[in-house]
Amino acid sequence: MAFRLSDEQRAIREAVRTFGEEEIRPVAREHDEQKKYPADLVKKAAELDFVAPSIPVEYGGAGMDVLSATIVTEELWRADPGIGSAIGSRGFGSNMIRKYGDEWMKEEWLTRIASGESACCSCISEPAHGSNVAGIETRAERDGDEYVIDGNKMWITNGTVADVAVVMTKTSPDEGHRGITAFLVPTDADGFETEKIDNKLGIRASDLAEVILDGVRVPEENVVGEVDEGFYQLMDFFASGRTSVAAQAVGTAQAALDAALDYADEREQFGQKIGEFQAIQHKLAEMATNVEAARSLAYRAASYVESGDDQMATQFASMAKLFASEHAVDVADEAIQVHGGAGFVTDHPVERYYRDARITKIYEGTSEIQKNIIADNLQ
Ligand SMILES: Cc1cc2nc3c(=O)[nH]c(=O)nc-3n(C[C@H](O)[C@H](O)[C@H](O)COP(=O)(O)OP(=O)(O)OC[C@H]3O[C@@H](n4cnc5c(N)ncnc54)[C@H](O)[C@@H]3O)c2cc1C
Repeated sequence: MAFRLSDEQRAIREAVRTFGEEEIRPVAREHDEQKKYPADLVKKAAELDFVAPSIPVEYGGAGMDVLSATIVTEELWRADPGIGSAIGSRGFGSNMIRKYGDEWMKEEWLTRIASGESACCSCISEPAHGSNVAGIETRAERDGDEYVIDGNKMWITNGTVADVAVVMTKTSPDEGHRGITAFLVPTDADGFETEKIDNKLGIRASDLAEVILDGVRVPEENVVGEVDEGFYQLMDFFASGRTSVAAQAVGTAQAALDAALDYADEREQFGQKIGEFQAIQHKLAEMATNVEAARSLAYRAASYVESGDDQMATQFASMAKLFASEHAVDVADEAIQVHGGAGFVTDHPVERYYRDARITKIYEGTSEIQKNIIADNLQ
């Protein structure tokens, strides 16, 4: 299988890279230090179709194929993981609306997300239930032609900036994973409250919050898909979500490698460039090999997601996420080592890449959960 990008995919990569170098890179450190959400850059990125690139053309999106969207994510994170996350996650949760939502949901919300006007958030995790999605306790109880939602959602990307949320709830609490339903909830609904989480290790330009749902009422039309089918609907998107996280990790690792290469070519010790020491050359060789291996897995996962082969998509997405995230942290660590003391302070971006890379091992299923999935598929 040859991974030769089409002319269009190469053009997309070039366009995102130019945007990243000209608009994102110069302000990346400031956004990290000030934990500043990049609202102005989101707007510009939306004009270029880099926000939610997979939203179909009829709803104002770019209708990109999975590999093209993977490349957009990779390049946004290569420019800066924090700002890349803020831009790339604007449509988080909108996949559910795209595949299972009613037409009115798509017309009302996909158009606003694609234009950059609104962000979406995906409320799955709870304080007591992260890896074990089937255990969620947020309750949606029917009351006439409405549902009343009560519960807490934890670690919600875009929690304080989203206009709409896709909230996973229990509608049949005794049925485990067979009792979960997704609801579309406008975030200005009475009883929808958020508490910003701003003490993060990395991706500090990205928004994160706890969401409290206290008697939130939504009409029955706001069920996304089918009642009690939410778990299965959610499983549909884990392969694409994990492929996207693998792309985030590849972008971060590539940025760390780029920085290490530049520094190795500048810094001199013992009368020569440090890049001329074989010890440093070997580090760079290993870093580059791992970045390429991770990229190959991520692109292969993207091609399986596109093909609709669910079993292969699940397996390759987990492998790609596991490999790319673990190696992104290692590559960023080695990039710090190449910088010596200079890598330990914020004058150079590599300490930021190290902090930013760390999240890719945790969300959309931890590395341990990916290993469980991969092992199950081998049986
Ligand atoms: C920055 C950030 C953004 C996030 N964004 C979102 C979001 O937008 N929406 C959302 O719903 N969630 C989001 N999350 C939550 C994220 O998906 C969870 O943190 C993740 O799934 C892990 O859940 P947990 O934190 O509860 O850890 P736990 O599930 O408590 O896991 C703790 C440890 O136990 C291990 N473990 C658990 N179960 C097993 C098992 N069966 N086998 C082996 N090891 C196991 C885990 O691997 C981990 O090492 C985000 C998290 C962060 C930090």
